[in-house]
Amino acid sequence: MPYRDELLYSVVARYGVHFGITSPKQLLDDVFNNRKVIATTDLPNHLSMIAKHYTDCYYCDVEYLAYKHTLFPLYAPFVSEKRRLECLRLMADTSQGAIHLALGVAASRIKQTLSLRYCPQCVRLQQEQYGEYFWRRLWQISGADCCLLHGQLKEAAVERHGHHRHQFVAPYPENCPDSKQGESSAESQIVTNQVERLLDRPPVKSADLEQWSAYYRYLAEQNDCCRGQFIKYENIVERVLFCWSKKWLVEHGLSVEKSESCWLKGIFRKHRKSFSYLEHIVVLQSLLSSPWDINDVLGDVCNQKSEREHHVAPVTNDVSIELRQEYQQRWELLVKQFGVKPARQNKQGGATYAWLYRHDKAWLLKFNRRYRIYPKPINKRINWQQKDILTVRELVTLRNCYEMFLNTPKMTRNWYLKQVKSPATIEKNLYKLPLCNQFFMRYCESTTEYQIRRLTKTVAQLKISLIDLKRWKILRLSGLSEERLRRGTKDFLTKIMEI
Ligand SMILES: [Zn+2]
Repeated sequence: MPYRDELLYSVVARYGVHFGITSPKQLLDDVFNNRKVIATTDLPNHLSMIAKHYTDCYYCDVEYLAYKHTLFPLYAPFVSEKRRLECLRLMADTSQGAIHLALGVAASRIKQTLSLRYCPQCVRLQQEQYGEYFWRRLWQISGADCCLLHGQLKEAAVERHGHHRHQFVAPYPENCPDSKQGESSAESQIVTNQVERLLDRPPVKSADLEQWSAYYRYLAEQNDCCRGQFIKYENIVERVLFCWSKKWLVEHGLSVEKSESCWLKGIFRKHRKSFSYLEHIVVLQSLLSSPWDINDVLGDVCNQKSEREHHVAPVTNDVSIELRQEYQQRWELLVKQFGVKPARQNKQGGATYAWLYRHDKAWLLKFNRRYRIYPKPINKRINWQQKDILTVRELVTLRNCYEMFLNTPKMTRNWYLKQVKSPATIEKNLYKLPLCNQFFMRYCESTTEYQIRRLTKTVAQLKISLIDLKRWKILRLSGLSEERLRRGTKDFLTKIMEI
């Protein structure tokens, strides 16, 4: 069975170890029934073949394997929906290399490291907990060059595209030696933090390229980086260089240049091809006030109207001057009281903003510029490490308290946050709280788990009152319906009915 966040490559390698298979060819025969399979770390093919080995495990289908045990979710949200589905088909199948072309990985300016990477302290913990090492996905992503808990990642003595193309190599103390880790850079922490969220994303529909174009247009406007139809490229460059060191950008193949073909210019033009996760993260970090969440951005992008519709929104001049002034005054009052962003989020403010955007955009943008608040400098007074430890203790206590209760509402991140001290601070600064992050990753309840808990509660109650167990009755008393049931819940219920 794969461990959480383990690469499929690693699962196959461990299979070889567990069964004492020393010949790479025999391993290929055993797992794939095909000796031509190339050991691919990031985006492997033949997933349907692997899924076949998990017939007892209801959720291990191709989509699940691709999203939980390959780097596919790192690319999927940024390509069109058609491409996303096509890629899933490619990964299920035997077409070697096609997936790398389809996702633009082969031609990408972002270079992968030559060797597989690991975190020396994490592998030691793996050894303690599981009795063996395994390769995590999070360690193999260019830009996400650190472990949020322990510092810089190290390169193992295992090449990604080594001499033996058909060999799956498991990590062990000899190829992942224990060594001192340097402190991680601010840049790698930012990237790792967002990449973790990307890897955790469920399979959802992708936005199209037009929506991406519209989103970046909107982002530039919000940041005073537009002059009419034109993008003020210098302003954007300035913001990017303020957040990211030149050295880091060059090292990751993302140097910013004056030339027309520079990627940074491209991302603010009409998108004709998709951009990589790293390009998006670099720009978003520079233009959004922190803390920001890639999930929110992806939501916003999907809500964008395509570019054509976006520009159709008429800037009408046929409204009276009085009416315009009335709206302007209303907006001024709100902004002076709350600031631009909170004023927009307020219901009345949102409507006023929308009206002005349609009828008097030039005035609105100019006015907002005066009241824009720049991201506050990092507050050094809070000892985040200590805060992290104290909060995670609180969270663990909570979990232990509620674990045996069947009545609790769905134990989501928000639910946990509501019960701890200063939830807003914690939520805003989660990227500085690696232990809390880990906690949420591991213990937040999934929909399936929650559904199963509700069923369990109902069945327990019915049993006590010795009532006949009927499937529809259990569902109704649990507030669930057949259509809403997750696959795991369905299987659970079926098993219960059998018993
Ligand atoms: Zn680590």
